Amino acid sequence: MNPKQQIYWHTTTQMPGSSNTIAPLPNKADVAVIGGGYTGLSAALTLAKKGVSVAVLEAETIGWGASSRNGGMTLTGLKLPMQSVFKKFGRDTAKQLFQCSLDSVSAVERIVKEEKIDCGFARYGHLLTANKPRHYQALIEEVEFMDREFDHKVKLIPPNEQQTEIGSRLFHGGLLDEVSGGLNPAQYVTGLAHAVENAGATVHAQARVNKIERREGRFVLETDRGSLTAESVLVGTSGYTGSVTKRLQRKIIPIGSYIIATEMLNDELAKELIPKGRMIFDYKHYLNYFRLWNNRMIFGGRAAFFPETASMIRRSAEILRREMIQVYPQLKDVKVEYVWGGTLDFAFDKMTHVGEDNGIYYSLGYAGHGVAMATYLGETVAEAMLNGNIKEHPFAQFKFPSAPLGLYDGRPWFLPFAGAWHKFLDWVE
Ligand SMILES: Cc1cc2nc3c(=O)[nH]c(=O)nc-3n(C[C@H](O)[C@H](O)[C@H](O)COP(=O)(O)OP(=O)(O)OC[C@H]3O[C@@H](n4cnc5c(N)ncnc54)[C@H](O)[C@@H]3O)c2cc1C
Repeated sequence: MNPKQQIYWHTTTQMPGSSNTIAPLPNKADVAVIGGGYTGLSAALTLAKKGVSVAVLEAETIGWGASSRNGGMTLTGLKLPMQSVFKKFGRDTAKQLFQCSLDSVSAVERIVKEEKIDCGFARYGHLLTANKPRHYQALIEEVEFMDREFDHKVKLIPPNEQQTEIGSRLFHGGLLDEVSGGLNPAQYVTGLAHAVENAGATVHAQARVNKIERREGRFVLETDRGSLTAESVLVGTSGYTGSVTKRLQRKIIPIGSYIIATEMLNDELAKELIPKGRMIFDYKHYLNYFRLWNNRMIFGGRAAFFPETASMIRRSAEILRREMIQVYPQLKDVKVEYVWGGTLDFAFDKMTHVGEDNGIYYSLGYAGHGVAMATYLGETVAEAMLNGNIKEHPFAQFKFPSAPLGLYDGRPWFLPFAGAWHKFLDWVE
């Protein structure tokens, strides 16, 4: 039987419904936040707690975007390996950015505790697995590099000891970082939305922003549900960034990512697959990421590069199931119950970027690494808005690149080539 095309996480919580979030829009607010995911909600929480009036404007329902569809891994580091960040930006910037990633996991931990969000957050640790022996050689260097340059201790898991971390024979060892964590993403975004409302901000579903105009030094936002005037605007629209912020849209590539969830496994099998509950991802360009939740295997990957459509989701279920069985032959008779997709936001340099464009603040380009980082950047960009020092933010220290030769208007015509290129790299490397 085909799996249900439904986001499994949504079955584990009551997502913020439309009843309390379709109240009339206020005429004005100090800050209008566009996007009701981790970035927007975390920014709104920070601002509301400082007495700023905030309206969160979400096109769909609150948490509808990547924030309720992801793998729930709160990871240290960035999308780009830290050695590449170091080479590209130098020691000082790399150190600062890495520290932000550690602070981002702590930010999630603090918010979950302060706001009493029941989302199963814990420091489970993450395991990066080597698909080939030469990946393991690179991991040996990585362990030394992280210790030497960042004083950050990660542990090498040699191939002959990996059964203590993963019940699979596919890999050639791995790297373990015990600082990373995991959570249930939909429970987390729902808890954040409640915290935002409790702090006094208003949260508006079905309020797509269609136009932003500047009038007499203020912003007038036309939405599906009327207009609102704001002193400042913050954009947290991630892979769903559209033409209302055209200049930002042209810097963000939307890329699909897909996940399947199996039926509940028995305790013994679950323990065999991931004995210590780690968040796991592999070394490939076209990578897989997987973890357990409530004894279900949650297994994701970039089965296709395109943002989600019904047929893409159906095909992804088959591809991901095949890949899951390659990793875990033990799951060959296990039923896949759910499949869904979501959209990631990649900048052309695979870095996250924050800043201000014509008075509009933004935080974008998480590249599949945004559960903790969007929470943290939502907070710190909100603070920088208030303090007027966004240019000093560590993630504003490098250029937000546009497409080479300007060959991109927000429609990613090159994705089939990019997908093929990544598969090719996995093959030759
Ligand atoms: C399948 C998948 C798996 C992932 N796994 C992980 C993981 O395990 N770990 C990790 O760290 N990261 C992961 N990520 C990435 C992470 O989920 C995102 O980086 C993060 O959720 C981004 O949050 P956000 O608030 O910036 O954007 P989103 O949660 O995407 O929210 C953006 C919102 O903006 C709204 N919007 C867009 N345009 C408008 C408009 N004009 N007006 C009003 N609203 C608008 C959209 O409707 C959307 O709800 C994953 C992502 C996906 C898709």
